[in-house]
Amino acid sequence: LSDRLAETFKNLRTKGKLSASDVDGTVREIRRALLEADVALPVVKEFTQTVRERALGDEVSRALNPAQQVVQIVNEELVGILGGQQRRLEFAKTPPTVIMLAGLQGAGKTTLAGKLAKWLKKDGHTPMLVAADLQRPNAVNQLQVVGEQAGVTVYAPEPGNGVGDPVKVAKDAVAQATRAQHDTVIIDTAGRLGVDAELMKQAANIRKATNPDEVLFVIDAMIGQDAVATAKAFQEGVDFTGVVLSKLDGDARGGAALSVASVTGRPIIFASTGEGLDDFEPFHPDRMASRILDLGDILTLIEQAQQAFDEEEAAKVAEKIASEQFTLDDFLKQMQQLRGAGNIKKMMGMLPGMGSMKQQLDDFDEREIVHTEAIIQSMTPAERTNPKLLNGSRRLRIAKGSGMTVTDVNQLVQRFEQAAKMMKTVARGGTPQIPGMGPM
Ligand code: GDP
Ligand code: MG
Repeated sequence: LSDRLAETFKNLRTKGKLSASDVDGTVREIRRALLEADVALPVVKEFTQTVRERALGDEVSRALNPAQQVVQIVNEELVGILGGQQRRLEFAKTPPTVIMLAGLQGAGKTTLAGKLAKWLKKDGHTPMLVAADLQRPNAVNQLQVVGEQAGVTVYAPEPGNGVGDPVKVAKDAVAQATRAQHDTVIIDTAGRLGVDAELMKQAANIRKATNPDEVLFVIDAMIGQDAVATAKAFQEGVDFTGVVLSKLDGDARGGAALSVASVTGRPIIFASTGEGLDDFEPFHPDRMASRILDLGDILTLIEQAQQAFDEEEAAKVAEKIASEQFTLDDFLKQMQQLRGAGNIKKMMGMLPGMGSMKQQLDDFDEREIVHTEAIIQSMTPAERTNPKLLNGSRRLRIAKGSGMTVTDVNQLVQRFEQAAKMMKTVARGGTPQIPGMGPM
């Protein structure tokens, strides 16, 4: 058995932790990337702290180098904060489902109302838009235009009646939607340029009066460092069930997503990506994580980490071969694995000079595996570990027990011996190449 091979396997088996210096360099890079993506500073601090602690506590992954491992942790944490899985809209058990929009002026609420209506309509719903922004003279008209584009009903107060009461409008609208059998109601509300006590009170009152199933906080992704204060103010003043990130089509790397999700703990449900009504999509935490980190190859890294487990399994088999304890039981186990994961082929790929054997395995069909199983299972444990015991009378017994012929048994034993010989040769002289071990 070659020393190098033994050493490789020993290292493979050694469990350990990442060192502080392994971790710190990568964490510094991550910190820089997050700040560049305009994640709010307090969020960056807390986030990098969490990642550092976790990285130092984690077992070393065999398939990744330290930097890759830290990046993987970062990605997992990011996706987690961003809501993990995609969160869908909640619909009411008894229609109509009421969806209220809140956010600063210019955040993209009115545009979103149109996008949401169009999206819902396409999905077979019958949405109604409600103009409860009576603050700006043009706001009602803007919603009417959007509603027309989306092809949906817009509920609006009569124009020219002076300043109306948005709470009453919203409440009447829900009643009207129920009568007219709209299954969804989207309430557009007023926003100010900055956080404003009066505005918060109005939005809170609309919420109270209409008891929405969803309150969506719409925030401009370009808002940068202000995201934290704004989101907190809306959470305290109105509270919301979900977030919509708008203007993601711009330069913003989406740091606001992390800031808002992190300080409010609320899921991001949609992303708005343009001025058109179709520029809109359900939010994907994993994609946003990649965008924030700006690491094109992050998905590849994650995939490699997921493969680590398979490689461990394959490495165990390789180790056994290398230590020359390959038995008929192992042979059978490999045959059985062939069916599913293809671990044996993977293992073959790790050992140089195994090409012909691999080809043979490719040619293996399911029936042959079943026959092999039957024959080996008819052997005693002693026969399986020591095939030299298999004399003529034993072979006859095995053939009978498995319902096969003596020739079949002979062929199997022969094939096993060939395989064992081949593997031992490789194990003595070969250098294993374990994918994922080298630097990438
Ligand atoms: P509101 O004040 O919150 O109702 O915001 P509006 O819906 O009126 O949007 C304000 C401006 O931002 C408008 O000019 C919209 O066309 C624009 N806008 C809204 N959403 C997006 C988006 O996702 N991307 C881009 N590029 N512009 C958007
Ligand atoms: Mg508006």
